Amino acid sequence: MATTLNLRTIKLRSGEQFRDKREIQLEPLELGGQRYLPVPQEVPAELTITRASTGTVFELAFSVRLHGPCYRCLEDAVLELPISAREYQATNPESDEMRTPYLEDDRLDLSAWARDSLVLALPNQILCRPDCAGLCPVCGKNLNDEPHEHAEVIADPRWAALEALRTDSAGED
Ligand SMILES: [Zn+2]
Ligand SMILES: [Zn+2]
Repeated sequence: MATTLNLRTIKLRSGEQFRDKREIQLEPLELGGQRYLPVPQEVPAELTITRASTGTVFELAFSVRLHGPCYRCLEDAVLELPISAREYQATNPESDEMRTPYLEDDRLDLSAWARDSLVLALPNQILCRPDCAGLCPVCGKNLNDEPHEHAEVIADPRWAALEALRTDSAGED
C-alpha cells in the first residue's frame, strides 16, 4: 500500500513549480527488534516539486508521532517528529549522487521516501522521557515506578560459602 506519484500526470516545464498536499501511507518501523507505529498511518504531507533545466528538486514536509517501546524501560514512548526532506534528480544524471533512489520510471515512491526520512530523524535512543531510569539490572523492575537499590549479597563471602554448601548437598541426592 505504498503511496506513489506519477510525474507524467504533473507535466512540469523548466522553471515551474508544483505544490500539493498528499496523504502518505507509512508502514510500521522495525528498529532493534521492536515495532514502532507512526500515528497517523496516513500522514498529510506537503510536497513541492521544482523543475529547472538541469534537474528537479523534490521537497517533502510532514509531522508524525511515533509510538513504541522505550529503549530503557520498554514502557510506551511517544516521539513527535517534524520531518523535512529534500531529493534531487538531474535531467541527465552522470552519477548516483545526481539521482534520487525514490524515482523509478517517472514514479516517485513517497512512502519509501517518507519512511527513510523518518528513520533519519530518529534520536539514537527512543525514550519515554529524557531521564528514564530504565529497568533494574538485578530484579528487572521498572526503576521509574519503584526507585530502589539492592544490597550486594553476592559479594559477602559468608553467602558464597552457604551457596557452595547447598550446591554440594544437592549433588549427593
Ligand atoms: Zn522509559
Ligand atoms: Zn531491583
